[in-house]
Amino acid sequence: MLNDTLPKYFDPRKHATHEVTLEGRLSLSQFPELSAALASNEGDAFVHLDFRVDEDRRYIATGSIKATVQVECQRCLEAAPVELEVDLCVCFVYDEDHAKNIPGDYDPVVMTDGEVVLADMVEQELILALPIVAYHDESGCNPVALKYASSTDDAPDDEIKPNPFSILAELKAKKN
Ligand SMILES: [Zn+2]
Repeated sequence: MLNDTLPKYFDPRKHATHEVTLEGRLSLSQFPELSAALASNEGDAFVHLDFRVDEDRRYIATGSIKATVQVECQRCLEAAPVELEVDLCVCFVYDEDHAKNIPGDYDPVVMTDGEVVLADMVEQELILALPIVAYHDESGCNPVALKYASSTDDAPDDEIKPNPFSILAELKAKKN
């Protein structure tokens, strides 16, 4: 059973019992928390989830979330594309206590009134997958932006200047 229009909410117990597959895309613009961390919210997240009930009667979904997001490059400060790919192995639980009792290889997702908001779940997974810092590939930086970024950013340069005493020590060492 393949569902190619993604629902806003879903009931993991029902989906697991019927072994539903959810597949489709969500626009990144509907993820406010993720968008705040990005240089642009253009693009989509591709979601694939296979639901099943495991041998211990747990409600499980395995699959993946893929998205190309635009993150500010820390060298030139322009948008740089970063490919995110999250492999999912989710166990749906009733509350935090229940979450503590599931095997470590499952990622717990807490249901609210027996349901899960799909966009919230996808957004949290993408946020966790974001790199802490991002750069363009080798020579992929915008040269104009790079010049601007380095000329407005004098403070860190000052910090790495050697202190005058170590220069003196070096001069002395050369004389000897
Ligand atoms: Zn760059």
